[in-house]
Amino acid sequence: MLVDTLINIPYYHAVGKEMDVFKQAYKNKIPILLKGPTGTGKSRFIEYMAHQLDKKLITISCHEETSSTDLIGRFIIKGAETVWLDGPLTTAVKEGSILYLDEVAEARPDVIVAIHSLTDHRRELFIDKLGVTVKAHEDFMLVASFNPGYQRGFKELKPSTRQRFIAVSFDYPEPKIETEILINETEIDSDTAKKLVTIGNKIRNLTELGLTETVSTRLLVDAAKIIHSGLPKRLSVHVAIVEPLTDDLQTIQALKDLCDLMI
Ligand code: ADP
Repeated sequence: MLVDTLINIPYYHAVGKEMDVFKQAYKNKIPILLKGPTGTGKSRFIEYMAHQLDKKLITISCHEETSSTDLIGRFIIKGAETVWLDGPLTTAVKEGSILYLDEVAEARPDVIVAIHSLTDHRRELFIDKLGVTVKAHEDFMLVASFNPGYQRGFKELKPSTRQRFIAVSFDYPEPKIETEILINETEIDSDTAKKLVTIGNKIRNLTELGLTETVSTRLLVDAAKIIHSGLPKRLSVHVAIVEPLTDDLQTIQALKDLCDLMI
């Protein structure tokens, strides 16, 4: 039993004071915004915190088609009847779960409008299709993630929305921690883990390449996984780290050559 319980605990390595911040935000029922590039542990952090606080976590991966209807709910036809079906946001508000809106800036603007009344003192959700207002359960908490994307192609979040959240920045962990993460996630040997982290940092520092997003911890974990399961190291680095970053053939070749010297 104990082993079962231990196995199900999400693994998360703290990189700063984010756990303390989250606990206090939860206590005070202040929504929290996790900012940072993709693959830096935001989702893993929220999974871990939900587990720590013994709360159910409902995650919505937002994209450009995500609308308030998807979140709040809709009427569906069931046999000869039309019945109302709560969406994930309404469910979380009623039952007191943690709702995680991953990449909230990608969603349609009506999603932001729908969550406004939940992010201030009112803590209520207006369901326009039913004409009712639902008070949030005491334990309900809203968490959102956002990729500030200092480079092209990312959507922004309005100040009027951002200022409804406590915000925590996520970034690539320092080498020692990132190495530990790779070892913990994949059981790879520490020498290879260190080399992968060095490759990651080397590419991250090559800002002149103008990559939209650089090497995330996720990519390093993926490389470590396939190395650990038997794929040759160089090939693993090519397919898990270099190829996902760019389609520019010259850049790909230059990065492969660089990585080959390092692993
Ligand atoms: P994000 O939500 O920021 O895009 P994820 O939480 O999905 O990123 O993280 C991607 C992967 O990176 C995780 O599956 C995990 O393997 C690893 N990871 C990143 N940061 C951490 C961390 N601090 N502790 C444990 N694993 C991490």
